Amino acid sequence: MRAVRASLVFVVLLLAVTACAGGGQPVDLANVTSVTQPSPVNVEENPAASATSAKPAPTCDPRASLRPDGPLPPEGQMRVGSTMKAIQDRGQLIAGVDQNTFLFGFRNPSTGALEGFDIDRVREIAKAIFGDPNKVQYKVVTSAGRLDALEKGEVDVVVRTFTANCERWQRINFSATYYVAGQRLLVDSTSSATSLDQLGGKKVCAAKGSTSITTIRENPAKLVPVQVDNWTDCLIMLQQGQVSAVSTDDTILAGMVAQDPNVKMVGDRFTEEPYGIGIPKKNTDMVRFVNAVLERSISSGAWLDSYNRWLGNTGGQATPPQPVYQN
Ligand code: GLU
Repeated sequence: MRAVRASLVFVVLLLAVTACAGGGQPVDLANVTSVTQPSPVNVEENPAASATSAKPAPTCDPRASLRPDGPLPPEGQMRVGSTMKAIQDRGQLIAGVDQNTFLFGFRNPSTGALEGFDIDRVREIAKAIFGDPNKVQYKVVTSAGRLDALEKGEVDVVVRTFTANCERWQRINFSATYYVAGQRLLVDSTSSATSLDQLGGKKVCAAKGSTSITTIRENPAKLVPVQVDNWTDCLIMLQQGQVSAVSTDDTILAGMVAQDPNVKMVGDRFTEEPYGIGIPKKNTDMVRFVNAVLERSISSGAWLDSYNRWLGNTGGQATPPQPVYQN
């Protein structure tokens, strides 16, 4: 009796399923139109301009840093009383970096280690202080968190695709320029857009606190700026069709292109972004030290090796920038 009832239930269920299936068509089990697409945390559409970007930008030469004061001291023997001696005594350099930007600062998925062109610069500084490039405590900072981390003394340096500009020079120091990037546009491979001007009324994504979001906001075509915490959030929003484009440094966009064959970088550079290493305002001795480290990296060929390793396929400039000093 129980067996008969069970097979009856089975037949009824089978009938119900085939009836719904409508002659072999796929079954639509959920009403997908009611599902809201997930979006990254802290995403903001049309954010208000930050208080600082409302003020007129001060004028300066953003690339002009402080000249090294003589040759570097021997590794592990920093001068008494210097910022570098305090770091040596602490046992680790504290570096603010990114972990989300492929080619510059990202986690190697198989080892978990941070790697990239910016990470190479951090390791050179640690090597010059300790004789050991591994004596680093990395702190992940967002684009928006870079200035605060330096002002609060939470990090010794920020090496994170950081454009030296006059507004930022008001709050921190920068090393000499170690790479010059430029802002460009990233779109879906099916898009016909080639410039920001063609995207009036459309959503364009960039990281909060970046020079890129300001450029997007100020574009006369009246784009809809969408700001997020991390650059990878922009890539995901583009992949999901939640924004029409991402716009930032060609270096960062090159990392996205390398990860996703369905996106393309288009149009020319429309800004200049000279990258400097951020250092707290009071630590001028460290600025001179870091500039000596950069000079040595360039003259020894280490800069070029690092460039070839990370940026060789990006179509960038394989020549290191000439250092510029204020004095
Ligand atoms: N170079 C630009 C900046 O410093 C964009 C890169 C970034 O936000 O990491 O704001």
